[in-house]
Amino acid sequence: MNLSTRPLFARVALLGMGLIGSSIARAARVRGGLAGEIVAHAKTGRTLARVAELGIADRIESDATLAVQGADCVILCAPVGAYAELAATIGPHLAPGAILSDVGSTKQSVIRDVGPHVPPGVHFIPAHPLAGTEYSGPDAGFAELFENRWCLLTPPPGTDANCVARLEQFWRGLGSMVSITDPAHHDRVLAIVSHLPHLLAFTICGTADDLADETRQEVLQFAATGFRDFTRIAASDPTMWRDVFLNNREALLEMLARFTEDAQAMARAVRWGDEAYIEDKIRRGRKIRQSLIELKQA
Ligand code: NAP
Repeated sequence: MNLSTRPLFARVALLGMGLIGSSIARAARVRGGLAGEIVAHAKTGRTLARVAELGIADRIESDATLAVQGADCVILCAPVGAYAELAATIGPHLAPGAILSDVGSTKQSVIRDVGPHVPPGVHFIPAHPLAGTEYSGPDAGFAELFENRWCLLTPPPGTDANCVARLEQFWRGLGSMVSITDPAHHDRVLAIVSHLPHLLAFTICGTADDLADETRQEVLQFAATGFRDFTRIAASDPTMWRDVFLNNREALLEMLARFTEDAQAMARAVRWGDEAYIEDKIRRGRKIRQSLIELKQA
């Protein structure tokens, strides 16, 4: 084979074929040059059958140990709570020199759960694409999901620089922008930009649902006034988000405590009619929205 036409990875194994795993498979196919062969594994036969129907992988494997055999890139795409067991299962079957990565929304827990099962000679490089929707499963994925979105890599100190560069090239090939960050920093930032907003959305929907029947009816009828945006986030997958909350517990609780203090301060301003305080908070919210639009992230 001509060197210039050789794909970046000869065989990519995706363990988990939901929104993220199936989007990687689709994007790698559409963009080309990234994976010679895509091997797909998921937990249930139902998902594997659907992946086969969709034709988005070259090979389907119901046994995770067979899925990773001979793969030079293995990416865990399951909910983070499943990682420890999955890593223990595949660890002894990983090919020497392979890159083991993931897409999990938490990073310190992934290093804690997967790290001990990585055999010598395998390069472990955790990753997190900051791209998603509220939908899940293999039908939810699409090839453009990662375009112009950040993918954060958190390689442990001493990781082979060539391997980090190859994984970076893979994500750039899928359309992402790539940045390397520290896992603890990642978890704190994600706690405020993603995990806390999801916690608030699930909570506010619960609060609305607890209201008396008559009021609940009106909540649904007049939802366009702001509640609707929360319901979109709250439609996300329960297993995935349960795992994210439990695996980023400390950072999430810290951000929630800060938020609660700020919400109390806002409540006080409302109670005492502190117009300047209320206006200032709203102005800061508008400024953040404007910055997101300028950065093309909204
Ligand atoms: P998803 O659509 O619910 O898909 C999860 C996939 O993992 C399914 O194919 C499921 O198989 C499989 N799976 C579950 N347990 C497994 C196990 N023990 N072994 C092998 N496969 C298993 O979830 P997703 O949204 O793609 O999320 C996957 C990962 O990406 C999570 O770690 C999440 O934190 C991260 N992430 C999500 C988003 C987002 O917005 N959704 C964004 C960035 C990162 P079955 O279908 O057979 O059960």
